Amino acid sequence: MRFAAIIVAGGRGERAGGDIPKQYRALAGKPVIAWSVSALAAAGATEIVVVCAPEHADLCHVATRGSAAVTIVDGGATRTASVRAGLAALGEADAILVHDAARPGLTVEMIGALVSTLRDGASAVAPAIAVPDTLRRADDAGRIVEDVARDGLMRIQTPQAFRAQALRAAYAALAPNAVMTDDVAVARANGVDAVLVTGDEKLMKITYAEDIAMLERMLGVERIVCVGNGVDAHRFGDGEFVTLCGVRIAHTKGLVGHSDADAGWHALVDAILGALGEGDIGAHFPPSDPQWKGADSERFLRHAAKLAADAGARIVHVDVTLLCERPKIGTHREAMRARTAEVLGLPLSRVSVKATTTERMGFLGREEGLAAQATATVERPA
Ligand code: MG
Repeated sequence: MRFAAIIVAGGRGERAGGDIPKQYRALAGKPVIAWSVSALAAAGATEIVVVCAPEHADLCHVATRGSAAVTIVDGGATRTASVRAGLAALGEADAILVHDAARPGLTVEMIGALVSTLRDGASAVAPAIAVPDTLRRADDAGRIVEDVARDGLMRIQTPQAFRAQALRAAYAALAPNAVMTDDVAVARANGVDAVLVTGDEKLMKITYAEDIAMLERMLGVERIVCVGNGVDAHRFGDGEFVTLCGVRIAHTKGLVGHSDADAGWHALVDAILGALGEGDIGAHFPPSDPQWKGADSERFLRHAAKLAADAGARIVHVDVTLLCERPKIGTHREAMRARTAEVLGLPLSRVSVKATTTERMGFLGREEGLAAQATATVERPA
C-alpha cells in the first residue's frame, strides 16, 4: 500500500515560548518537525507535504533540508484549511497520513501499525490512549458542575491514517469554512467509520516550553555536561571609559579593539562556543569584517546564546574573571552580573563575575591592557 503524508505545521506556537514556533525548535539538536519527517521517510512514505505558515517558510525549509520526499506549501487560516491545502498538493497514493508537526515522537512502528490497519480493511485509523484520570467538567469560575464517566473515553493522537479516496471525499463534502479539530472528525462527518490502534505516550503534543525536555527524556536522548573556557585581552588606548560585561565604566583610558573591546563578554562568548564545539568568536565575527567595527558585544553574546538554544543546549552557569589593576571592578560587579544574566536569560544565581589583579606584574600590572577569562557550563545532547 503506497502511502503519503501531510504534516500540519501551521501553528504559531506562542504557548511554548521562545522566539520561533515550537515545531522548528530543537529537540536533541534536531528541529521538532524533522523528527516526524525522518520517521515518515524511513517508513517509506512516497511523498511528504509539509503545510506551514507562509511567514515561516524559510524556517520550514531549513528544518526539513535534506529530505528529498518533502514538498512545502502555504497553510490556511485554520488547521482544516491547512489540510485542504496539503491534499491539493499531494499526488497519487493509496493511503494518506495526516500528522501534527508538534508531535515529534513518531516511530516507524506506529506508522506500520496504522498502514497495516488500513490494509486489513479499515478506512480511517488513529492512535489513541485511554484516559486514566478522573474527569469532571468545571465552569469558568473553576467550580465542578458535573462528573464525567471516563469509561471508553480516549485521547486521540496523530498521525491519523485514511484510505486516500475516503479522506479526499470527506474534505470535498465538508462545508468550505467548516473547522474541525482533527481529520477523523472530518471523515466521520462524511459517514466514514474510524477505528483506533494503541497510541504512544511519546506522541504527546508539545504545548509548553518544558514539554521539549520531557520528550527528550521519553525518547532516551543522552545529555552531557560540557565545560568551555575562553580568554581575551585588549590593549588600553585613548578614551574616557571601558565597557566590561556590558557595563560602561568611566576610566582615564579606553580599550582598543575592532568591536567595543568588551574583553569580559568576548571571553564568555568563547567559553560558550567552546562548550558547544562551535569554534571561536573570530570565526563567527571576523575582525576583518567592517560590519563588526565598534559593534556592541551584546550581539556576540546573544548569538552564542542562540546557537546554544538551537542545539537544544541549556547554559547552566557562567563565570567571568576580569584581570586588571584599574579600573576597580568591585562597585560594578553586580551590574555586570545583572547585564550578563539578562542577555543570557539566566537567573542571577547562575552568573558569576569577579576580578583580580596580577600584583602589578606583567603587561596587566603595567596597565598596558586588561584581560578576561571565562568558564561556561552547558548541558546539551550528547
Ligand atoms: Mg576581544
